[in-house]
Amino acid sequence: DGGDASDDARVALEIDGVTKRYGEQTAVSGLSLDVYDGELLTILGPSGCGKTTTLRLLAGLERPTEGTVRIADTRVADADASRPPNERNVGLVFQDFALFPHLSVAENVAYGIADASDDAKTERVADLLELVDLAGFEERDPSELSGGQQQRVALARALAPEPEVLLLDEPFSSLDVRLRVEMREDLKRILSATGVTAVSVTHDQEEALSISDRVAVMHDGHLEQVGAPEAVFENPESRFVASFLGQAGFLSGHIDDETVDTPVGSVPRAQLTGPTDRYVGAMVDVLVRPDDVSLAPATSEAEADGVVVRRQYTGPSFVYHVELTNGDRVRCQQNHTESHAVGTPVVLSIDAEHALAWYPTR
Ligand code: ATP
Repeated sequence: DGGDASDDARVALEIDGVTKRYGEQTAVSGLSLDVYDGELLTILGPSGCGKTTTLRLLAGLERPTEGTVRIADTRVADADASRPPNERNVGLVFQDFALFPHLSVAENVAYGIADASDDAKTERVADLLELVDLAGFEERDPSELSGGQQQRVALARALAPEPEVLLLDEPFSSLDVRLRVEMREDLKRILSATGVTAVSVTHDQEEALSISDRVAVMHDGHLEQVGAPEAVFENPESRFVASFLGQAGFLSGHIDDETVDTPVGSVPRAQLTGPTDRYVGAMVDVLVRPDDVSLAPATSEAEADGVVVRRQYTGPSFVYHVELTNGDRVRCQQNHTESHAVGTPVVLSIDAEHALAWYPTR
């Protein structure tokens, strides 16, 4: 259930058996997910997996075909009724920021603050602009701001009414790569300063892993796995999650009593994740990521495990694609100071420091 350390935490948002169909098309299928108070949960998945639809269901822009959404223990949507966005205490940040172009920065941020005196509003706006590092920008028009600054105004505007849950739809996708990385840090800092519960949607694995308390991986409308970034990356419960979260290679392994034998050597059976007893004697596919394998030139053809078929230079490292004699293909990441040409016969060894995930051979 992905409970992790959150077992005692209050559930701020509950998605219970939610399905959304458009005619014949099922966009979201039987989704159940709890979001805990104060956490940032990121819904991650490829294009078309249903993540935007999920966010729209949470925001009140869509009504579920089946199932229930609760925010702070209040039922806000089911198949019969769905409260609109302004009646469910959520803050929305869209990928295009959607600032009001004819309002100043201060007016944009003040927009959602209801029932307050002018002085109280001015003070709240000043506090929020301070928080997002835009003090002094009150009178500017959105058109006079950079993309990153507009994004921070959008964040301040969404936080202004003190929402129960902040919903972020691909919040960084229109920013350039460097700014995106900077904004991740800013978002983390702003969210922890306010303590707001947040749900973000992205197809960017690195972003999801680096900013989230938990990541929910979706595929074809359903939830594949939810857990802490380290848990989903190091212990992916399906080949889909393994391959979507990072580069994944698979070594065919044979499980023996004590060891797992692969074409590049044996590792203790205890090194595999989860219970393997039922698979003793069986073939499995062992997940290895590029940094789980190291490579050295073979001293003879006979000794070689495989041959380098491709080499990618990434700056700090080389990534070698190696085809093994049995046809398995794996990638290994090596320091940039060691260079081996395509065609080099190589010996591989597994040097995983963590438990290795595996899947029954299909
Ligand atoms: P992307 O990253 O490309 O935005 P996504 O994971 O957010 O993709 P959704 O936009 O939620 O995916 O769409 C999920 C599926 O539901 C897709 O197959 C999509 O074509 C379909 N879908 C979404 N909205 C509608 C709609 N209004 N009418 C019909 N089909 C829809």
